Amino acid sequence: MYSFNYQKVKTVADAAKVLAKDGDAKLLAGGQSLIAAMKLRLAHPSEVVDLGLIKDLSGIKADGKAVAIGAMTRHAEVASSAAVKKAIPALASLAGGIGDRMVRNMGTIGGSLANNDPAADYPAAALALGATVVTNKRKIGAGNSRTRPRATPSSEYSWPTSVRACASR
Ligand SMILES: Cc1cc2nc3c(=O)[nH]c(=O)nc-3n(C[C@H](O)[C@H](O)[C@H](O)COP(=O)(O)OP(=O)(O)OC[C@H]3O[C@@H](n4cnc5c(N)ncnc54)[C@H](O)[C@@H]3O)c2cc1C
Repeated sequence: MYSFNYQKVKTVADAAKVLAKDGDAKLLAGGQSLIAAMKLRLAHPSEVVDLGLIKDLSGIKADGKAVAIGAMTRHAEVASSAAVKKAIPALASLAGGIGDRMVRNMGTIGGSLANNDPAADYPAAALALGATVVTNKRKIGAGNSRTRPRATPSSEYSWPTSVRACASR
């Protein structure tokens, strides 16, 4: 693995500042894809910005018939959430089938959407549900994301902070 700087930030604004300053910086969610990519030398960020301390990015809120899921919410939390089970049972079931227990306890919905792997579950689910991806700058319909697979949108300084979805469109 290449050498890199690591820092934990406490606010979305602080993370945005680091990304604006350093075009080679990468956000770290659960590390389930990024760390593997770094080990394989497919990614070599100069700065790794850990989002784990930003409380606003985690959690699930019922919002009428919809749910708003913070970007740092782990797959296991989505799978066991009463609000998600009630609003979109298929989404809870999908989250419960992702990877293995460790992946579900570390991996995040924001990391999965940012990574945009065509084989991954959440990007397809977000598209099928017509979900809205809320970034630190704007709201984007899941179908309108221009993110290339496995390319973080960090370079545009706009990155997922939460996702809003409901079962009926
Ligand atoms: C063994 C294994 C099995 C898996 N099986 C499945 C599966 O069955 N189905 C499935 O869908 N997925 C699967 N995954 C992927 C897993 O679901 C992770 O969610 C996914 O790899 C993203 O990981 P992460 O959330 O830890 O993000 P990280 O690895 O931390 O980050 C991934 C990328 O997204 C960027 N990023 C992270 N958060 C944000 C953010 N908020 N805004 C902008 N950019 C951000 C990072 O800079 C990085 O480029 C598997 C992974 C592993 C290791």
